[in-house]
Amino acid sequence: MQTLSHYLNGQLSAGQSQRTSPVYNPATGEQSAKVALATADETREAVRIADEAFVAWSKTSPLKRSRILFKFKALVEEHTDELARLISSEHGKVFSDAKGEVTRGLEVVEFACGIPHLQKGEHSMNVGTGVDSYSMMQPLGVCVGISPFNFPAMVPMWMFPIALACGNTFVMKPSEKDPSTPLRLAELLKEAGLPDGVFNVVNGDKEAVDVLLTDERIQAVSFVGSTPIAEYIYATSSAHGKRVQALGGAKNHMVIMPDADLDQAVGALMGAAYGSAGERCMAISVAVPVGEETANRLREKLVTELDKLTVGPGLVDGPDNDMGPLITREHRDKVADYIQTGVDEGAELVVDGRQTTIEGAGDGYFIGGTLFDHVTPSMRIHSEEIFGPVLAIARVASFDEAVSMINAHEYGNGTAIFTRDGDAARQYCEQIQVGMVGVNVPIPVPMAFHSFGGWKRSLFGPLHMHGPDGVRFYTRMKTITQRWPSGIREETNHFTMPTM
Ligand code: NAD
Repeated sequence: MQTLSHYLNGQLSAGQSQRTSPVYNPATGEQSAKVALATADETREAVRIADEAFVAWSKTSPLKRSRILFKFKALVEEHTDELARLISSEHGKVFSDAKGEVTRGLEVVEFACGIPHLQKGEHSMNVGTGVDSYSMMQPLGVCVGISPFNFPAMVPMWMFPIALACGNTFVMKPSEKDPSTPLRLAELLKEAGLPDGVFNVVNGDKEAVDVLLTDERIQAVSFVGSTPIAEYIYATSSAHGKRVQALGGAKNHMVIMPDADLDQAVGALMGAAYGSAGERCMAISVAVPVGEETANRLREKLVTELDKLTVGPGLVDGPDNDMGPLITREHRDKVADYIQTGVDEGAELVVDGRQTTIEGAGDGYFIGGTLFDHVTPSMRIHSEEIFGPVLAIARVASFDEAVSMINAHEYGNGTAIFTRDGDAARQYCEQIQVGMVGVNVPIPVPMAFHSFGGWKRSLFGPLHMHGPDGVRFYTRMKTITQRWPSGIREETNHFTMPTM
């Protein structure tokens, strides 16, 4: 059986550790490979390589760095189908969705190609007589990315293109559940002309991660994953003097106002709740219809649509299914347990995905689209992230009740409102305590030239991912105030604060 390992100093590198973790094809339940779990020493070696590569790379002109990224962009485009097949075979998501993920990642590469402009800094002439001031945005050094299983291409691409463009070197620690895509991206970076050692991939678990959070040569840590781990990453890396952005879990609500176009809202909700089997941090997992009549109509239409939802393998010969399997058997069982919890808590189970028959599913980790009604804030199926194809309807009597319920939730990643009323939409955008808001847009993932991030316990750290925050995160500002002798000639010494 194939052992996937690491990518160090411009080549695939067999792991030294005896520890491995199985990689499965979630559509069949068969093990497809194993992945090496790096030891602490192997991880330190990756850091050493990236540290050594930093000086030369940081001195490479932004224009040259950008040209490598332009080539990388072309290579990723050329290999999109291959990458999407890799994603689908280890993650399970359907092929078209996997291609969409690659495209969203590519958009960050496109943004990073503009680095000569983005990293220009600031300049002011004559801040005092004969005195000029300018700010430089300098790279940090070795940066680290730790990514979750659910976007093995896009989430790493939220991080490394901007970090590399800014002149940093990088150690990527992908999810051990679907490690092949980041390794392939490393090869494409080399093919694009990236010097050896600038981008490295270490596969591993907590042993590797703990080195990356504490090694003094690491300057910054970007993390995306579940909230308990995000919190741990934030606390540990900060305590070791690193800058950190740690994005965590989510529970995203969609408010449906009585005046919304219900067909449009239901169409949007189906994709947002069940796309990628609900394994998206921006998935809508709670529908919040305002008023009983809206709720009844919404429920009826959702049931009709759920009946048409196609569930099956991510890679098929004919047209794609709507959604594929979950990532592992354990996760499928966890989602099934949540469905039982909802029943025990007194929510009404309208459609039970545990009963869905899936053609040709074999031992794949499938669960069908599930719908609960009459879910209340005190239930665990409302307060906790399920990360599966389970949509809850939480009925409210008014707009204000919807806003209070969402604002009281632990998470604040994404949300949406569906309405024709501009006033309600505007109030919603102003009052809601959530980082990314959609108005008649179900999954408001910001484009690459804006920044991505939630509020509350969905993000630890002040700066969001990619866009302007990404450039700020991966650079440090240095401000120079300069005066040349001709400006100094007539000056006397100052013993008080210099003022203009
Ligand atoms: P996870 O937290 O289990 O794992 C994320 C990463 O952390 C992996 O690389 C993993 O190897 C590592 N890790 C796991 N346990 C660790 C430990 N004890 N110590 C150190 N490192 C550890 O998350 P996951 O299951 O891979 O991904 C799903 C989660 O990610 C969901 O909660 C989802 O909401 C979240 N997510 C959030 C966003 C966002 O933008 N906020 C985006 C995608 C996914």
